[in-house]
Amino acid sequence: MVSLYDLSLAELTGFCAELGERPFRARQLYAWLYGKGENDFARMTDVPAAAREKLAARAHAKGLALRDALASKDGQTVKYLYGTDDGNFIETVFMKYKDRNSVCVSTQAGCRMGCKFCASGKLGLVRDLAPSEMALQVILSEREAGARTKNIVLMGIGEPLDNFDNVKKFIENFTDDHGRDLSRRAITLSSCGLVPGIERLAAELPQVNLAVSLHAPNDELRQEIMPVTKRYGVKAVVEAARKHYEATRRRPTFEYALIAGFNDGPEHARELAALLRGLNCLVNLIPLNGEGGGENGGENGGENARRGSGIGTTERFREALGQRHIPATVRRSLGADIDAACGQLRLRQERVPRGDQYA
Ligand code: SAH
Repeated sequence: MVSLYDLSLAELTGFCAELGERPFRARQLYAWLYGKGENDFARMTDVPAAAREKLAARAHAKGLALRDALASKDGQTVKYLYGTDDGNFIETVFMKYKDRNSVCVSTQAGCRMGCKFCASGKLGLVRDLAPSEMALQVILSEREAGARTKNIVLMGIGEPLDNFDNVKKFIENFTDDHGRDLSRRAITLSSCGLVPGIERLAAELPQVNLAVSLHAPNDELRQEIMPVTKRYGVKAVVEAARKHYEATRRRPTFEYALIAGFNDGPEHARELAALLRGLNCLVNLIPLNGEGGGENGGENGGENARRGSGIGTTERFREALGQRHIPATVRRSLGADIDAACGQLRLRQERVPRGDQYA
């Protein structure tokens, strides 16, 4: 059985040919799958019953089942928990803003990057998600939310550049003008800084926006919270972002979670400004969300617990960057009351074997 959401339009056309259907049929199906967001063949009313039967014998468009939904008190954010066919759990967040909606998509079941403050990687990587599993997160969440989105952020569970081929196919399908015809400029991919992946992103998906999770201005500090720094140091990551900008002319964002007493002092702001000098970028300051993922996670309290910086410190940090001509914004944290804020999406299932993980 093949999931139609795993096929490009060209592949779907080939598949339809095998079933004795014309290319027209593939375009029609593609419009149903992406344009209308319909994943049940029985409801594709203008596809003849005989064609639907042939399809159903060899293919499906399912693969995720909604297991739970949790809305924030203000109703702006809803987190959906989905079960995959092989029993993994992944999460998707639908955010309703006044002027636009946005959906935050998971790209892996678990994550092997092991960032200490992030809950998503606590169990290591279980497996990559298929393009169909990313597409269905958007399709099913829109259906549940009763709203459409034009914006997709790849900032859920997982490291998108560690699953490049599947992420690319998902983006290509969603932005195909026979599908949803979404603008690639409305898609943002967030990475912990895998340099070869950033290079591929610039070359192969140049309109997609890049966000880099930096969180520290030097290797020494960053290594303490992000093991991936051993592989790619901050200078190399910033250089990759610079090249990405030069190739794409899309302004990169650097995410920086402010951790009290760790990376939020005036000296850190100075060092960060020096690191980013001359690069057309935006720094997005994120208040560290609670429940931390690491061994010193905030939920455990204790002396070493990581806590987010206060409003005053955050504002001073932002100003210190601004004075040095580095524009910075403070991210609105939506959904903290439902554990849907950054870094709080995690596998719920306790018995998942510990997967592959950076030390
Ligand atoms: N792996 C990708 C995308 C997923 S994380 C990446 O690293 O960018 C999405 C964002 O949430 C990242 O910037 C991540 O560093 C941040 N994040 C993780 N845990 C957090 C926490 N506890 N508080 C605030 N931000 C957090």
